[in-house]
Amino acid sequence: SAKRAGRGGFHFYAPWMAEQAAANRALESDLRSALKDGQLSLAYQPIVDSADHHVIAREALLRWTHPVRGDVPPDLFVPVIEDAGLIGQVGNWVLREACREAAAWSDGARVAVNVSSAQLAAGPLLVGHVMHALGQSGLSAERLELEVTESIFLADDSTTRATLEQLCAIGVRLVLDDFGMGYSNYACLGHGHFSKLKIDRSFTAAAALPGRKAERAIVESILTLARGLELDVTAEGIETAEQARVMAALGCGQLQGFLFGRPTIPDDLGQADRRHRGPRTNPRAA
Ligand code: C2E
Ligand code: MG
Ligand code: MG
Ligand code: MG
Repeated sequence: SAKRAGRGGFHFYAPWMAEQAAANRALESDLRSALKDGQLSLAYQPIVDSADHHVIAREALLRWTHPVRGDVPPDLFVPVIEDAGLIGQVGNWVLREACREAAAWSDGARVAVNVSSAQLAAGPLLVGHVMHALGQSGLSAERLELEVTESIFLADDSTTRATLEQLCAIGVRLVLDDFGMGYSNYACLGHGHFSKLKIDRSFTAAAALPGRKAERAIVESILTLARGLELDVTAEGIETAEQARVMAALGCGQLQGFLFGRPTIPDDLGQADRRHRGPRTNPRAA
């Protein structure tokens, strides 16, 4: 769509884009039914301490089970939610649901929620949703981590920066996701709003391979940077014991990946009641 094209910086038009647009329209109409029918749910994946493997946090990951297509990956449908102007409504549900769930965890682990740049751009709306989710669940602010990606700094707009500042003031922890992948905007870390960065899984995988000196050096420099800025670090995408060993040996404090647990939807009683229940308010106002 035009909105997407504008944000992504595409100024040309190619035939595949028409197909893409048609596919997105179909997906968008299916998504609207999904919101009404409660097809969205949250899966949780543990983030563990690299020394003793105890669970420090769990990341909430949005899941959509399409009645015909089956599971649709969030990388595919989150952008459609954004373009449809529904990210405020869905993001608010994710926040409330994740905080509610985490408040019941007996191990006191934190909960990590992904927040897209479109949500941050909405500024005060997001801050309100966060405060409401905390208030309603009784979860203490320091147990909520908000994961954002470097792309939020692309526009370098003042609303985004003010929003980060306000979230920081509330006491929630800000996390820079997929670090190393994008623009490596080190300056954005200097604002002092972040508590943690997550090393992208492409580096985790490569750094553990023998002979991959470049990736290992990059990981080492990220860890040195994090120590200097007193940030925690999570290595994403740990799939093998060797990767866990290497990242721990390099000094990475937290690990996340299939080795320690796949994202899992809690299946205790009452889950049906916790699925997303359609728009209660005008999506644009949510
Ligand atoms: P992310 O925040 O970087 O999430 C990590 C992704 O890596 C997840 O994919 C997770 O399932 C996957 N992963 C975890 N461990 C491993 C591993 O050991 N190996 C491999 N190969 N993959 C691993 P998922 O669930 O498909 O989510 C993709 C992206 O969608 C997320 O990336 C996040 O950017 C976005 N997303 C997910 N849920 C939400 C949400 O509630 N709101 C927003 N705005 N975005 C979301
Ligand atoms: Mg994340
Ligand atoms: Mg990530
Ligand atoms: Mg990602």
